[in-house]
Amino acid sequence: MASGSAIRGTRVGSGPMRLPERGEQAPRRTVTYWCAKGHETEPSFAADVPVPTLWDCPRCGLPAGQDQSSPPTPPRTEPYKTHLAYVKERRSDADGEAILAEALARLHARRN
Ligand SMILES: [Zn+2]
Repeated sequence: MASGSAIRGTRVGSGPMRLPERGEQAPRRTVTYWCAKGHETEPSFAADVPVPTLWDCPRCGLPAGQDQSSPPTPPRTEPYKTHLAYVKERRSDADGEAILAEALARLHARRN
């Protein structure tokens, strides 16, 4: 098996350049948005489409606005809680540990 010659046979860049047929003639406008973390994004919109006031920052996912000096405040996100965290919240720590031990015991029992 001559592995080197096979690679040499492939031509690079010989194919016809195919540009996607899009209505590039349609006027577009670029709008700059800033998120609360200072990320800048510049999506472009068709001129006949109303520009959204908010845009999701592609870097961090926070809402971004068109006013750099006062970006929209990020929504209060609930930190992800595990089921155990909820259990611990409702009960005392000791109870939570007992429940955890019980759950682990059940897991072990299922494995056998
Ligand atoms: Zn961002």
